[in-house]
Amino acid sequence: DTIGRNLDRAVERWPGREALVDAASGSRWTYAAFHAEVGRLARALLGSGVAKGDRVGIWAVNCDAWVLVQYATARIGAIMVNINPAYRAHELAYVLNQAGVSLLVASRSHKGSDYAAMVESVRGRCPALRSVHLIGDASWDRLLEAGEGVPEAAVAAREAELSCDDPVNIQYTSGTTGFPKGATLSHHNILNNGYLVGELLGYTEQDRVCIPVPFYHCFGMVMGNLAATSHGACMVIPAPSFDPAATLRAVERERCTSLYGVPTMFIAELGLPDFASYDLSSLRTGIMAGSPCPVEIMKRVVAEMNMAEVSICYGMTETSPVSTQTRRDDDLDRRTATVGRVLPHTEVKVVDPATGVTLPRGEAGELCTRGYGVMLGYWEEPERTAEAVDAGRWMHTGDLAVMREDGYVRIVGRIKDMIIRGGENVYPREIEEFLYAHPKIADVQVVGVPDERYGEEVLACVVPRDPADPPTLEEVAAFCRERLAHYKVPRRLEVLDAFPMTVSGKVRKVELRSRFGG
Ligand code: ATP
Ligand code: MG
Repeated sequence: DTIGRNLDRAVERWPGREALVDAASGSRWTYAAFHAEVGRLARALLGSGVAKGDRVGIWAVNCDAWVLVQYATARIGAIMVNINPAYRAHELAYVLNQAGVSLLVASRSHKGSDYAAMVESVRGRCPALRSVHLIGDASWDRLLEAGEGVPEAAVAAREAELSCDDPVNIQYTSGTTGFPKGATLSHHNILNNGYLVGELLGYTEQDRVCIPVPFYHCFGMVMGNLAATSHGACMVIPAPSFDPAATLRAVERERCTSLYGVPTMFIAELGLPDFASYDLSSLRTGIMAGSPCPVEIMKRVVAEMNMAEVSICYGMTETSPVSTQTRRDDDLDRRTATVGRVLPHTEVKVVDPATGVTLPRGEAGELCTRGYGVMLGYWEEPERTAEAVDAGRWMHTGDLAVMREDGYVRIVGRIKDMIIRGGENVYPREIEEFLYAHPKIADVQVVGVPDERYGEEVLACVVPRDPADPPTLEEVAAFCRERLAHYKVPRRLEVLDAFPMTVSGKVRKVELRSRFGG
């Protein structure tokens, strides 16, 4: 089905139920009202000359307009291009040109980011860009005015031309391991993934989903928005960008049943000085995903945030995104040691990265996935698509994983992060998990750096608990020597205040490597 037709069905079934609440602006929309506003915006886009397959960019922090643009572009067969609100002018220009965006919707400004000024500064360099509309500005009103003479039948006529296999969205990857790539996704890809993720969480029209993760990423717009609307649940936007107190306040006030976050967001919420004062009794479930989820945090989320059914999801932008997920009744071991098991209508296998041969359960290799979720391709990058998706339509994730006997998958690390020291494979994650227990270490990242003798050497980058008393290399090495094989013991140490991060909350190991000689 297309996203537009799926929304029509939600409105038929649940017209009076709430679809969207934006806590920052105070706006609230029932399904009927939301549907009508999506229709108004769809007419406006048609009136502005947006043709089927045209790229419409959205460069905005989380707000109700973001969600309206998502559904209105889908309804008229445009391809929405999500642009990370943390990007600056240079990166914006790259995406606008790479995707050939002709109409851009942007926030005016947020927390010191003047989006309007940045857009103006690049317009001359973006020949395809015809019009820009700033949310809440006169230029937004002009967009809506463009739709006033457009009949509803025009939207229906356009919609009748659409197939569920048409591209609907270009989402750029997080850029954790290099430059972001534009994954092109169809209605079929993302609508089914959102629906199935919601199904496994047990969503119904009674659910209210608190979404503090950014919409520009599939975590927000697929696992959040599409999962909610395909089950008649309500999307709750706690704040334009992540704010731990605003998130818990929204859960309390809106009686949310589900809460999302990357691990660092849950850590921030649990660490609020007034954490105990929030009423989180309405929570039942939620999702923690995006990067490895520390066991201790998972335990606290279950016990202290009332999220007994919280899921861990694993996925990537290129697979719409989720491939594996833990189930509602999984025990804590499965929900902490693994990223769950494969989703319906998807296949996963673990292969030897060198030969492509499927490995027995229990052995580490590259995780590959196949099914309805695999992207159409990277936008206008056929060579990179061919490197990632093989002739059998298997997506090579670049992640190292082990499939346990019970079919649950454990992520060991990323192939690009694996260190090969003197012919031995070293998985940074294993050393990191171990070093977290060192009393002087608050946070740690292990990377490989070039070494003349061993090819690569193990470097530990640490953030000390007490900046005045950082650990020495000798202390760290001695700590590891007792419990780890000699080739895993760090030979170099760097002490940092903080790690370079992507906006989706992941540490950019590439940057650590290049900073320290990689
Ligand atoms: P890029 O491809 O540009 O380097 P990225 O891979 O971080 O960036 P995303 O598509 O946002 O971009 O993230 C997908 C990756 O996130 C996965 O390939 C995996 O490495 C990691 N990941 C996702 N979920 C989990 C999880 N539950 N546990 C561990 N890692 C995860
Ligand atoms: Mg990736």
